[in-house]
Order: sequence, then C-alpha cells, then structure tokens
Amino acid sequence: MLTVEKLRSRYGRIEVLHGVDLEVNSGEIVTVVGANGAGKTTLLKCLSGTQPVSDGQISFRGESFAAVPAHRRLQRGLAQSPEGRQIFTNLSVEENLRLGAFLFTDERVDQDMAEAFAMFPVLKEKRHLAAGGLSGGQQQMLAIARALMGRPSCLLLDEPSMGLAPLLVAQIFEVVQDLKRRGVTVLLVEQNAFGALKIADRGYVMETGRITMSGPAAELIADPRIREAYLGL
Ligand code: ATP
Repeated sequence: MLTVEKLRSRYGRIEVLHGVDLEVNSGEIVTVVGANGAGKTTLLKCLSGTQPVSDGQISFRGESFAAVPAHRRLQRGLAQSPEGRQIFTNLSVEENLRLGAFLFTDERVDQDMAEAFAMFPVLKEKRHLAAGGLSGGQQQMLAIARALMGRPSCLLLDEPSMGLAPLLVAQIFEVVQDLKRRGVTVLLVEQNAFGALKIADRGYVMETGRITMSGPAAELIADPRIREAYLGL
C-alpha cells in the first residue's frame, strides 16, 4: 500500500534521513521505533508531504507521491495525526472533528461523527466544550478521531502515547488495534518501543536516519539487541 525507497531528507544542509526503505501492506499495523531524534517525525512529514524529500521515492496505492501536494495526499487516503496532537484548543471538540472532514460536504460527515463518538464516548460527552479543556489522553483521542474524519485508508500516527499515564497509553494502543479491525492501515511511530511492537504486525528500528533492523514485531521483541537498547530488559 505504501512504499518508501531510498528516501533522503534534509533540514538546510544537514541530511537527517539517509536512504530509508520501508513498506506498509494493506491491513497491517507497522511501527517505526527509535530514540529521540532518530528521524521518525521527519519520515512521517515526508510521507504526508509537509517536509521536502531530497531523493528517493514514496508511492501510495501504486501512485508516486513525488508531485502530489500534502492536501491531495489526504484525498488519496493518507492521513496524519501529528506529534503533539496539534488540535485547535479554542474550538470545540465537534468543531475540531468537522475540520478533519474539510474535504467533504456530504451527509456522511454526520455519520462519521457519530462513528467517532461511538469509538470515543468521552468526546461525545464533551463535544461542545473547548478542546483545550480536555485531558492529554482525550486530546490524543481527538487528534486520532479528527484524522479519521478524513476517511483515510492509511493513518500515520506520530507518538500517540507521548506524555500519557500508563493506563491511557494502554487505551491509545487499544484504539490503534481497533483501527486495524475497522480496516484502517496504520503506520505508528513510537519511542515506546515495547508498547508499539506488542500491537504491531511488523516493525522497523530507526537510528540516526537509517533503518537498522526490521522484521515481524514478535521477532523484534525477542531480539536481544532490541531488548537491551529499546526495551530496557
Ligand atoms: P522525536 O521523537 O524527538 O520527534 P524523531 O525520531 O522524530 O525524534 P526528528 O524529529 O525527525 O526525530 O529529528 C531528526 C533530526 O532532525 C534530529 O537531529 C533533529 O534535531 C533534526 N530536526 C528536526 N526538525 C528540525 C528542523 N525543523 N530544523 C532542523 N533540524 C531539525
């Protein structure tokens, strides 16, 4: 579904992605784990079209993304829930969700909203409140729900567990599994390697702009190098 080949990206003169290869198949949860600063966010930004690619290829459902701008990538079915959530704190929960549906004007928007509320009942309760008043976990749920309002076939999730208490982290990972059950393919970027690998089908390890290991998530969890470097075991 999503293929990345020899992807390079830079900030000014400093290259931070040095030829990344990665593949996501339809229906999978794929995770990219790695330390702070490894280049995970930059990778997702290249995929969503908000960071320039200096070399290499991205294709989605068989189409090269080289000339497809960010807003058209969402139309093609690729949505991102960005790091730090980036919700509109002064707008209500419902207004935030409607912004996620900006591509559409049809009646299905109300139906999508009803589905989002069924998935996240707490958002329904607070639909008329300012999003800034939500807890961190609720804001993360809103960010995911908003991305779903764009009806993506593939969702890019950047550190959804960041800054959340353990119980909420578990809830967010449940949500990601629920997305898979609903037929949404997920590329999940996480510093919480253990949590992410536990729910993923396959994983990639990123170190300073390169993929250093990849494989079925269960194999990565069992690998002594990963256990030592990323799982603290
Ligand atoms: P984190 O989990 O902290 O977001 P990450 O793995 O997502 O880490 P990136 O944010 O992609 O890593 O950063 C990769 C490298 O690029 C880092 O060395 C970072 O300092 C650098 N970098 C990130 N954003 C910028 C920017 N806007 N300008 C210059 N350098 C940047």
